[in-house]
Amino acid sequence: MLRVHALYCGSLEFERKLFFPASAEGLRMVAPVSSYLIVHPQGKVLFDTGIHCDARTDPAGRLGKRIASLFGIRSQAGEDPVGQLALLGLKPGDIRYVVNSHFHFDHCGCNASFPRAQFLVQDAELASARAEPKRYDAKDWDLPLAYRAIDGEHDIFGDGALVLLPTPGHTAGHQSLWIRAGDAQFVLTGDACYTREHLEKTILPGNTFDAARMTESMNRLRSLRDRRGVTLLYGHDAEQWHALPRGRKSLI
Ligand SMILES: [Zn+2]
Ligand SMILES: [Zn+2]
Repeated sequence: MLRVHALYCGSLEFERKLFFPASAEGLRMVAPVSSYLIVHPQGKVLFDTGIHCDARTDPAGRLGKRIASLFGIRSQAGEDPVGQLALLGLKPGDIRYVVNSHFHFDHCGCNASFPRAQFLVQDAELASARAEPKRYDAKDWDLPLAYRAIDGEHDIFGDGALVLLPTPGHTAGHQSLWIRAGDAQFVLTGDACYTREHLEKTILPGNTFDAARMTESMNRLRSLRDRRGVTLLYGHDAEQWHALPRGRKSLI
C-alpha cells in the first residue's frame, strides 16, 4: 500500500493578476508551496522540492531582484522538504527518487539537499533550461545531481502505481504525477494547473510558455478527474491545501 504525505513548504504572496490575468490591479493573494512524499514498497519518492531556505532571509540574493519583487516569501524555518521530512523521521538520504514537475524556483529550490537521489525530469524541461537559461535559475537546478531525462510517460516502479504524465505548456517540459493505489487515484498537477478555479474556467496565468499546449494539458487533467475519478491536487490552491491531511497523516 502506498502512503502519500503532503509537505508544507511555506507560502508566496503576490499580485492576484499573476495567477488570474483578468483580476483587478492591486489585489494580493497568498498561495501555498508544496512538496509530496510518496512511500512505495520499492522506495520513497519526493515530488518537487519547494523554495531554497535562503530565500526566506535574503530573497533578492537568492531569487534575484525580479522574482523577489514579484513574490513575498511567507515561510518559517523548517517549512522546506528537509524540515518536513524530519518531522516524519526521515532524512534526505532516504529519498530514492525526486521528481521535479519543472524548474521554476518554487519547485526545485532545494534540489541540492538531495545529492543521493535520482532526479526524474522531462527531457524537454532539461533541454529548455539549458537552451534558455534566463527562464530559470541555474542555482536551483544546474547542479551535480543525478538527472535522468524522461521522454513522455514513465512508470517509475513498473507497477502502474506512480506514473509521470507530461503536462507541458506552463513550461516546455512540465510533468505531473499520477498516483494509483487501488481505488484511490490522485494526480499531483504541479503548475499544469494552479488551482481548481483555473481548471473550472480554463484560466491561463500570465506566465505561460505555450498557451495551446497548456490548455491541452488542462483538458487532459479535467478528463482524468471527470472520467476516471482521479482527485487532482493542484499546484497552489490555498483552499484545497487547507482541507488536506498534511505531514504525518497520509492522504491514503
Ligand atoms: Zn511554475
Ligand atoms: Zn509554482
